[in-house]
Amino acid sequence: MNTLNVIKTPGLYIHIPFCLSKCPYCDFYSSTSVSLIPYFLNGLFKEMERHSHRFKRFDTIYLGGGTPSLLTPKQLESILMEVRKNFHLTSTPEITMEANPADLNPVLLESIRGIGINRLNIGIQSFDERVLRFLGRRHSLNQVISAIEASRKVKFNNIGFDLIYGVPGQEMDSWLQTLRQALDFSPEHLSCYQLTFEPETPLGRRFQAREFHAPGDDLTHQFFIETSNVLSEAGYIHYEVSNFARGMEHTSKHNQKYWDHSPYLGLGPSAHSFDGHQRWWNHRSLAQYLDEIQRGNLPIEGKETLTLEQLRLEALYFGFRTKKGIHFDHFKDRYAFDLWMEKKEILRRLKAEGFLLIQHDHLSPTPQGFALSDSLALL
Ligand code: SF4
Repeated sequence: MNTLNVIKTPGLYIHIPFCLSKCPYCDFYSSTSVSLIPYFLNGLFKEMERHSHRFKRFDTIYLGGGTPSLLTPKQLESILMEVRKNFHLTSTPEITMEANPADLNPVLLESIRGIGINRLNIGIQSFDERVLRFLGRRHSLNQVISAIEASRKVKFNNIGFDLIYGVPGQEMDSWLQTLRQALDFSPEHLSCYQLTFEPETPLGRRFQAREFHAPGDDLTHQFFIETSNVLSEAGYIHYEVSNFARGMEHTSKHNQKYWDHSPYLGLGPSAHSFDGHQRWWNHRSLAQYLDEIQRGNLPIEGKETLTLEQLRLEALYFGFRTKKGIHFDHFKDRYAFDLWMEKKEILRRLKAEGFLLIQHDHLSPTPQGFALSDSLALL
């Protein structure tokens, strides 16, 4: 029987749609008009109130963006106060905030720890100044180091670094050096993303105009496999295609919800939500978002109800991207599909070729399998 109605505690995502400057590779929605922050907060609090009848309780909160660390301690505190006013939180919620290294000063760090933020995700991207400049980042290497040291000083003990590889002209040595410098600080979590050239971004347009060459498939595959090897040797668990944790207790509980079809509520411009069957998304532009709220509406731009077939395909896609993988009985129960019976031959072949591990009633991808996860999901 399909048990998609299994109740899991939802997560709350809040999109803070402001950045001081736009990085040329980024296609997340954000505005540089920071004077609008108070108007956004007003709208956000109304949006929370309008969802409070539908979502009651959360065990994770993720402040993403954009650049949440641009907000003042008072503004950040007011967001968490409004969350607590409108919803219940479990006794030990995971509360993550994304931060730009340039913003992480001791005063901000002390205050965000004081209001209950217990996980920091720092957008470092590289320990190589040349790469930081190519990416158009507003922070310097010195600011990265000060930010990490200041975070440890106020006893943040769950810190993640975001890093980017596959930058045009970057050689393996530069990337390995960045990884080694990151490891010197023993972060609890590392997200290592391949740079992509999204067509609607300034970098994507320069790429289309052939102003530079992107690293080829062989080199990006090498970056990926080397990253997995180096971090695994350093004791990190490669638990999702791009994510590594220094122990299972440091994996992102919030992101896990996206990968296992748990419900989540997304607030703020461009945020997506999911209730187990239906997915909906907010207007991307801040002006439209605020306009809908002003008119007493939810700022929703579109919605779709996923069929069992669509949910099953997504579950396969995520199953091949996470170390947790796929449990055959749970999959059959939840998505009405006996994966082992239907795909036994191909699964055995993928195991023999080194892409999957299959033990008893469960499969999980190897690092080689992670590298091909998008195609594996089409089996
Ligand atoms: S700071 Fe982050 S969200 Fe803002 S433009 Fe740069 S990459 Fe995008």
